[in-house]
Amino acid sequence: MLFQEPLGEPYESMTFDQLDERIRAHKARLGDRLVILGHHYQQDDVIRYADFTGDSLRLARLAGQQHKARYIVFCGVHFMAESADMLTGDDQIVILPDLSAGCSMADMTDATDLQTCLDEVAALAGGARIVPITYVNSTAAVKAVTGRAGGACCTSGNCRTVLEWALRSEADGGAGAQKILAAPDQHLVRATALDMGYGLDDCVVYRPTELNGGLTAEQVQAATFILWEGYCSVHQEFTVEQIAHRRRQYPGIQVIVHPECPIDVVQAADLHGSTEQIIRTIAEAAPGSKWAVGTEVNLVNRLANRHTDRLVVNLADHHCLCSTMYRIDPAHLCWALDNLVEGRVVNRVTVAPDIKADALIALDRMVNLQGVTAATRTR
Ligand code: SF4
Repeated sequence: MLFQEPLGEPYESMTFDQLDERIRAHKARLGDRLVILGHHYQQDDVIRYADFTGDSLRLARLAGQQHKARYIVFCGVHFMAESADMLTGDDQIVILPDLSAGCSMADMTDATDLQTCLDEVAALAGGARIVPITYVNSTAAVKAVTGRAGGACCTSGNCRTVLEWALRSEADGGAGAQKILAAPDQHLVRATALDMGYGLDDCVVYRPTELNGGLTAEQVQAATFILWEGYCSVHQEFTVEQIAHRRRQYPGIQVIVHPECPIDVVQAADLHGSTEQIIRTIAEAAPGSKWAVGTEVNLVNRLANRHTDRLVVNLADHHCLCSTMYRIDPAHLCWALDNLVEGRVVNRVTVAPDIKADALIALDRMVNLQGVTAATRTR
């Protein structure tokens, strides 16, 4: 994770109104030259300035469509800004207002370790074709290893489509995989594999701290999905006990969770889906319906405020906050824009050309493979 120096004065003592006035003035002055993208997990005090909001997949696509904008200020986390840099033109500049806004899950896999994993698993697999599928929540260097090995990135919104592509024969336009190596998140691909009709026995976990990931040749050869031992520190917080508690508290409540949650939580919920799918499900729900939502707290609170004719509560009693994304606040946004209007670019995020070439192979596949809009019903 990168480190951001404290902003110092005047930003530390500016009021919300002062920051608001300055950000709005800069936006007006920069006009079409500026686009601000905001991830759904971003706090309301920042999302109010976003020209577009979305999950990783939607924002990646949107970034690639902003042909008029010279500056793309990404209010998300570092891997998202890297993807935006790769999907935009060479003359466009991507800025992350706080460089320490990283992703703990993306930090769980690096390129060297992923390549070692691919080599070790290939040596154990008895000649089976292994295709890596990397969650978009990963560094550009990890995406490059994926692209070089014939794989693709995916998001929670199109994971199933990408896995089906990977497992389809090359004659049918797929990657011809006999086995999938999924990194860094284990939970998303395990849940999706079960949606596709596979069993838990078809999945094994590769532990990067152990030789061969702690796996034997027999285990690798019997498995279809080899899952890197990674997770999201936010979605890992949700439990089956919380689901039981909400059901006791609000009889008739429906539980919808993100597939980054552990598999027992996904299976105990009524529905699971990506952030876009969760948003759509709540938006289309009947007035008077009751929902417990297992995802990042800023999004859940926004849904509760937007749909006041239905009950929307956090699944957990404590707040599951993406603390790294939360580092982007109005002060950092104001600071980045202050510099832009004075002709200085701060916190530009770039990907080296050799990494970009290979990473784009994996990223382009993700952007072009459509996901589904509806959440998946578990019960
Ligand atoms: S919610 Fe989890 S996966 Fe998403 S950016 Fe935050 S730490 Fe990363």
